[in-house]
Amino acid sequence: MGSQQLSSLRTETSAELFARASAAIPGGVNSPVRAFLAVGGTPRFIASAAGPWLTDADGNRYVDLVSSWGPMILGHAHPAVVDAVRSAAVHGLSFGAPTAAEIELAEEIIGRVGPVEQVRLVNSGTEATMSAIRLARGITGRKVVVKFAGCYHGHVDALLAQAGSGVATLGLPTSPGVTGAQAADTVVLPYNDLDAVRAVFAERGSEIACVITEAAAGNMGAVAPVAGFNAGLRDLCHANGALLVIDEVMTGFRVSAAGWFGLEGVAGDLYTFGKVMSGGLPAAAFGGRAELMAHLAPAGPVYQAGTLSGNPVAVAAGLATLRAADADVYTALDANAERLGSMITAALTAEGVQHHVQFAGNLLSVFFAEDEVRDYDAAKASDTWRFTPFFHAMLDRGVYLPPSAYEAWFVSAALDDTTWEAIDAALPVAAKAAAAAKAAQ
Ligand SMILES: *Cc1c(COP(=O)(O)O)cnc(C)c1O
Repeated sequence: MGSQQLSSLRTETSAELFARASAAIPGGVNSPVRAFLAVGGTPRFIASAAGPWLTDADGNRYVDLVSSWGPMILGHAHPAVVDAVRSAAVHGLSFGAPTAAEIELAEEIIGRVGPVEQVRLVNSGTEATMSAIRLARGITGRKVVVKFAGCYHGHVDALLAQAGSGVATLGLPTSPGVTGAQAADTVVLPYNDLDAVRAVFAERGSEIACVITEAAAGNMGAVAPVAGFNAGLRDLCHANGALLVIDEVMTGFRVSAAGWFGLEGVAGDLYTFGKVMSGGLPAAAFGGRAELMAHLAPAGPVYQAGTLSGNPVAVAAGLATLRAADADVYTALDANAERLGSMITAALTAEGVQHHVQFAGNLLSVFFAEDEVRDYDAAKASDTWRFTPFFHAMLDRGVYLPPSAYEAWFVSAALDDTTWEAIDAALPVAAKAAAAAKAAQ
């Protein structure tokens, strides 16, 4: 499919930039899903963003339902966040020495998420999960890590097995460059299948350092844990001397003020955060009970460090975002997800397209499947080929969705009447396109 036929918008500048980028940057992008490989067409180079809108290099404007893959819950360039970044920047960009603002961000996180008594700030979600796994192994003296198919925890070697969206989109079963040794101590089980976890603990319980799970899966589309799943993981871990690592990089500070923990109340041992807590700059964190975090250098022997960790500008953005994210913001996020979900269902039902809109808190996604999707196999078995024409019809009418059938959609609190009108106008056309789609032979 030629990229030009997919769009009636002018995309010459994005196309030129993509050609130039492809010469200088592998695949033309700095994170794979951005390249539009799964959906075809020209990836849009973004020139600016404000509130709920993205503007591309050709001057097209889109309602943003990606929100930088989660962080921008307040909308883009929120005045309080931009002001905080500006005033932090003029005081110096990085010191390699501690600052008072780092304490404030740590305290903000600790104040929101009950089971977290201490946090260490890092630069990406990947770093957070990598460090949490090292800490779990260091504390327990064990090596096996249990993860779930379709859950993504960043591009950590040991966790890059059946890792959901980005990997699924590219059709890579796992990644070359990850050695057998790096993956050998990782056990991958089906999501939402407590019996499988029970069985692996029965067999290898004394070798298991930790179970890592997304608090609610968002990287195979939005797939909430079934009732009792997270609590069951906690009980099995504790009965066997293993730690439960709950990855809230996507759900944290988005699905409620306290993330998925705030909705479910099941306490993990270690937590990872990123995305929203960074306000859109590179920052992330991992944390847990003080007694566990005390194993981390310099207090304890498990080494972990970062030249730019706790960077003052990133900390300012994260802190301003969390402080602006009050009860009204969470009410708006929930209401917006609900409203969007109903509109999708109405449009697809009108065209007789088999689908299931599902939620994990205010994360949502549409599966072209008859039944609820509870695990990665079911996500992969859905009619994902309907997504490509659906995606392009939306994009062409100014609504920017994640360019993959395996990604959750992220609303912001900034959606307003004009954006709803645009979504409302685009959805019926997209539903028609999905109805007309044919599976590849
Ligand atoms: C995005 C994500 C990560 C990785 O975060 P990066 O900042 O991209 O490294 C880890 N875990 C989950 C659940 C995520 O959604």
